[in-house]
Amino acid sequence: MPSDTKLHPAPAAADAAWQADVRAGVRHVRDLASLPLSSAERAAAQAAAANHKVRVPKAYLDLIDWNDPADPIRAQVIPSPDELMEQDGELDDPIADHEFSPVPRLTHRHADRVLLFPTYQCAVYCRFCFRKESLTAIGRGYTREALEPALAYISDHPEIREVILTGGDPLSLPDKALAEIFARIEAIPHVRLLRIHTRVPVALPSRITPGLVAALQGRLMVTIVTHFNHAREITPATETACRTMRHAGFVLLNQSVLLKGVNDTIEVLEELCRELMYRLGVKPYYLHHGDLARGMAHRRTMIAQGQALAAALRARLSGICNPVYVLDLPEGGGKVPIGPCYVEGRDGESWRLRGLDGEVRGYTEVVGE
Ligand code: SF4
Repeated sequence: MPSDTKLHPAPAAADAAWQADVRAGVRHVRDLASLPLSSAERAAAQAAAANHKVRVPKAYLDLIDWNDPADPIRAQVIPSPDELMEQDGELDDPIADHEFSPVPRLTHRHADRVLLFPTYQCAVYCRFCFRKESLTAIGRGYTREALEPALAYISDHPEIREVILTGGDPLSLPDKALAEIFARIEAIPHVRLLRIHTRVPVALPSRITPGLVAALQGRLMVTIVTHFNHAREITPATETACRTMRHAGFVLLNQSVLLKGVNDTIEVLEELCRELMYRLGVKPYYLHHGDLARGMAHRRTMIAQGQALAAALRARLSGICNPVYVLDLPEGGGKVPIGPCYVEGRDGESWRLRGLDGEVRGYTEVVGE
């Protein structure tokens, strides 16, 4: 048997593995009945699932410690009655995707890049999702016809350099659909980079098959932005998935969301960032402050707490392990860094700056004529 069989299983076996993982997971609200929940918890989960679909592959379910009601994996995927408690100020479309959508399935907020939504379905439905309203209201999967207006728009706008596949989860699509989308985008000469935002490597790592990575090979630089929120999500299976993507030549980045009760301590974040970089080869890219998605007040933290965590990460971790703490602003204002500021003051060309040890030091600018 060749030594790389584990990395490169036969295509049929590779597909059978992830399909079995999906089938054995939670696919419908009724499947919640098979989970070790109390009858009160099950009733509450079923009520909450009315607002946002429920789906969890078996590989992710298996990470849950059912003896811990506050388990951070469970908190991300099992519906909670708190989701039904909406607050004033929460929004259906927290970052104004729809306002900046000139054609269906596309958002164009920044000149050089667009979001493209090939599907509004996911391999896992995360309770904190800021696009849950779209996933519920639109909910449709991929068809070639549905993407035509968006692809024509990209073709007609030479300023677009990056296409970001998001959703829904693009990697929940079949290889054939991915190859088709890749080929259409690759044929637009001004597009240089294809970025894919996905939870699949976290929740359904068996889906990262040789067939999937082969569907994304060609002229375009490919960046995969994963979405790990806790070091317990990093397993031998996610290691294999990330290694397969690295060997395929993809750039791997991760964005996490800061979630109360999941990862809002320095110990959890530090371990997550280190393991992402050192074990998976995935660069921690963004740590998102929770946006104003409806029914998520119970998972949101205060910005001051996030800043303190970001400062502690900055002091403890190397630059390559450090994510940027950001907030994706309402009304389409874009992602802005909201981490701690190290500038204490300025007098002309003399600056006072706080070091990672907390001491304030001076820096006077010296430049040539
Ligand atoms: S996979 Fe992404 S789009 Fe889908 S529910 Fe989770 S966060 Fe939302």
